[in-house]
Amino acid sequence: MNIHTKLILNYMGIVLVILLAMYGYLDYSLKQNLSERITEELTAEAHLTREFFLEVLPDSFTYDIVDGFVDRLGAASKVRLTFIGCDGIVWGDTERDGRHLREMDNHLNRPEVQAALAGGIGTVDRYSDTVMVTLRYLALPVIRQDEMIGICRVALPMREIDTAISQLRWLLLLAISAGLVFAILFSIITTNVTTKPIRDLTQATKSLAVGELNSRVSVVASGELGELSNHFNQMANRIETQIHEISRERNLRDTLLSKMVEGVLLIDEHFAITYANSAATIMLDFPVHYQALSLIEIIPDPALKNLLEQVTDTEKAGFSEIKLAGPSERETEIIVVPLGGEYLVSLHDVSQLRKLERVRADFVANVAHEMRVPLTSIHGYAETLLNGALEDTDANERFVEKILQQSARLSQLVSDLLDLSQLESGIVKLDLQPCKIQEFRDTILALFEPVFEEADLTFEWDVPQYLPIVFADRRLIGQVLANLIENAIKYTPAGGRITISAETSDSEVLVHVRDTGIGIPAESLPRIFERFYRVDKGRSREMGGTGLGLAIAKHILLQHGGRIWVDSTLGQGSMFHFAMPQERRFSATEQIAQLAETDKAQNP
Ligand code: ADP
Repeated sequence: MNIHTKLILNYMGIVLVILLAMYGYLDYSLKQNLSERITEELTAEAHLTREFFLEVLPDSFTYDIVDGFVDRLGAASKVRLTFIGCDGIVWGDTERDGRHLREMDNHLNRPEVQAALAGGIGTVDRYSDTVMVTLRYLALPVIRQDEMIGICRVALPMREIDTAISQLRWLLLLAISAGLVFAILFSIITTNVTTKPIRDLTQATKSLAVGELNSRVSVVASGELGELSNHFNQMANRIETQIHEISRERNLRDTLLSKMVEGVLLIDEHFAITYANSAATIMLDFPVHYQALSLIEIIPDPALKNLLEQVTDTEKAGFSEIKLAGPSERETEIIVVPLGGEYLVSLHDVSQLRKLERVRADFVANVAHEMRVPLTSIHGYAETLLNGALEDTDANERFVEKILQQSARLSQLVSDLLDLSQLESGIVKLDLQPCKIQEFRDTILALFEPVFEEADLTFEWDVPQYLPIVFADRRLIGQVLANLIENAIKYTPAGGRITISAETSDSEVLVHVRDTGIGIPAESLPRIFERFYRVDKGRSREMGGTGLGLAIAKHILLQHGGRIWVDSTLGQGSMFHFAMPQERRFSATEQIAQLAETDKAQNP
């Protein structure tokens, strides 16, 4: 039952009680009032009658005389009149005549008669067998010269009182019903008005409870309800601000955690996962519903089990490195931090780092190895010379030549390493100039023409005259071309052909160096640009290669924002391609002007 109905019922209850009390009081007091008025009327009538009897009654009574007086007097009034002798004999009655009068009961025992005989006024309400209604009797002694000669009794039917009272009762009931209806209407209206703020508050609280944070109440009431509404609004404001603040912080935290490269997990004391960020789900290849899964089940690695047990025992942070299962076998550093009942597990993929460390170690080993070969050789020849070969004029020249050859190889290796390390560390400052591929033709021919002839190779330069300008460091791009041509010469048997062509694509200028040489096995293609990678180490060394040429070419192109790749078929030949972005800062006319200027500078 809501407060509204309760209040209406309360009001109605109170009104009903008040009205019933009023009804009871009015009913009683009206009855009393009427009764007193009738008694007064009867008393006055009795006194008048007594005076009349004192005047007219003879000393000795006969029925005819006394009843005659009684009837005459009764005709003049509406009351029943009776005259009773002191012995109780009824001598006259307005309701009986003749024989009936004489046959009337002796009235001596009637209480009102007894009271009158005792000298007082007797009043009694009683049912009359004579008139067959309830009457109020009032009797007075009739005393003449100190002698009681009889009793004069007057009576009025109580029916009139009852009728009057029942009429009044109806009126009262009507008034009470009207009052009640009015009270109901009044209570409905007033409770509606007074409970409206409460209903509004209830509604607003309900809305707030289901998450409608903007629910407020309009403060119309004054006093305590107004204060309550104000407090509710203040509370709702605070809740809204705090929830916004909390959700902003949660969103921020979620965003941070979801964008983290490190995997972050929360586990309980049984190692069951209670939270995992997206990096962790990817790293550990979780099922969608990971919650309550044990971390040890997901990573069944004894090292992790030991780490978790150690951290739970000591309640101190610990870390370990494990290899995650799966095709990638990622090396992962795991740090476990106790958080009082929970444990924060962070997963850091160190595969790349470890790979780099291995590459560095390999590189150092490679460099040492590459250097050891010519150094051993130089050392050997020098020792032989010192041990007497110096005197041998035939041998000593050959040996010194070998020493020269090996030291040239050594210095080539050192200079390649220097170039590569400078390119890799990015300290090489590119001298970028607008240039066209065509302009490299003469330099290349000057460098390699004798070599082509000597190696019995046909060389073809198939570069269109008008290609878009590229911004390039001439020396470095020249080195790329030279490295690729050198390789083509080294790995193409006599009678073969080397072709250089170029073209333009949407955004790049592409250069192709094709040979008809030995080709590269498919499994070596992905590794061909790695430092020191060689398909055939012996052959490369024999050819004077350092295994760094393609790595240098790759880094030069990366510095230019370009790329390099290779297509090759074993036994048929290889085709190296490199691409550089076209320079778009100049319009076509500006490009032509630029080229003309470059031409002038080169061919003054
Ligand atoms: P290298 O000094 O040994 O030539 P590079 O880095 O220039 O070192 O080349 C790496 C390896 O790639 C070579 O050892 C060779 O095995 C292979 N290679 C490069 N160019 C060619 C080519 N045109 N034909 C066949 N193999 C090649």
